[in-house]
Amino acid sequence: MYRKTWLEVNLDAIEDNVRTIHAICGKRFIAVLKADAYGCGDIEVANAVLRAGASMIAVSSLDEAMMLRNQGCGAEILILGATDPRDAALMEKENITVAAYSPEFAADLAAAGCAGLKVHLAIDTGMTRIGYRSFEESRAALKTLLDAGAKVTGIFTHFSCSDFDPEFTDRQYQIFADTVKGLNYGFDWIHCDNSDATINFRDPVSNACRVGISLYGISTYKNDLKRPLSFYSTIIMAKQVHEGDRVGYGATYTAKEGEWIATVPVGYADGFVRANQGRHVYVDGELCEIVGRVCMDQMMIRLPHRMLTGTKVELFGEHIPLEDMAKDLNTIPYEIICLISGRVTRTYVEHGRVIGEANERLTKSINAGE
Ligand SMILES: *Cc1c(COP(=O)(O)O)cnc(C)c1O
Repeated sequence: MYRKTWLEVNLDAIEDNVRTIHAICGKRFIAVLKADAYGCGDIEVANAVLRAGASMIAVSSLDEAMMLRNQGCGAEILILGATDPRDAALMEKENITVAAYSPEFAADLAAAGCAGLKVHLAIDTGMTRIGYRSFEESRAALKTLLDAGAKVTGIFTHFSCSDFDPEFTDRQYQIFADTVKGLNYGFDWIHCDNSDATINFRDPVSNACRVGISLYGISTYKNDLKRPLSFYSTIIMAKQVHEGDRVGYGATYTAKEGEWIATVPVGYADGFVRANQGRHVYVDGELCEIVGRVCMDQMMIRLPHRMLTGTKVELFGEHIPLEDMAKDLNTIPYEIICLISGRVTRTYVEHGRVIGEANERLTKSINAGE
């Protein structure tokens, strides 16, 4: 890392959260690490959750599964989203489990040849995204896959409102439970609970939980999980300005006499979106307003007094909770962390100290020059 703007990922805290959540639900733990582990780094987070006892890793696509395999991850991997039946042989060879999610997919997979491939049936119980939409569809898919020699090792559904609507969740759950019972097949993996349902919903049918966001301490129902993520930058210049000086594109902020304005090297190309204008960051014990428009690579903040170049700026973390930032921006924590771009270096803390950093793009450009 040359530019001092980074996402700090505390792997100890992620491991603690896995153990805490596992103790609550008592079921096998599937860690959902799609989208580069919600932007935190797929292999780094994978190794942490596996150390803490996770049994399986879920991703969204074969690309993501192969990224993990290519980095040496030998764990059980489940792809929750769509795959191409023509990749069946590769997925079987790599011991990657796929979701079967439509009548068409099951037929195409059978036609492509899927002997030995591990498959989980995705059941649509109310999300209306992917999955079998009736018992008959589920039963037909199971038969098609078994006849083609696939190993149907699991069945799952996904809740759409486990964060606020217990009635709807229960309705989804009943459909799922009836499907599992009606199919009367020896599924090894039965799973329906996302983070909020794992912590808040008691379900007697599933035997594994499927946790994503709560790995990072975010939960509707539990506020004492560890907080592994902090997003930081630094002051690169601080200047005292005069009455009437304008700040940033569009000159949207007019300074008062003597104000200290600092420039911070983070911008919307880092995923720190323009809507952050007017919010606050935390610097050396003080909340400082983001003044003027957020630029692509830089932004300006108003300091309460002079501060030195190199002073650390917290964008979110201990003093500015990610949830508060999400509320301010009218979004959810998931979106904020997934949007932190590949330009931002990730640093990793283990056993209380920084053990290394990763910047996919920087490494890639160095390799290309060799
Ligand atoms: C993203 C996802 C999860 C994880 O959800 P969280 O709310 O982050 O725990 C679980 N299951 C499926 C199918 C998903 O797409």
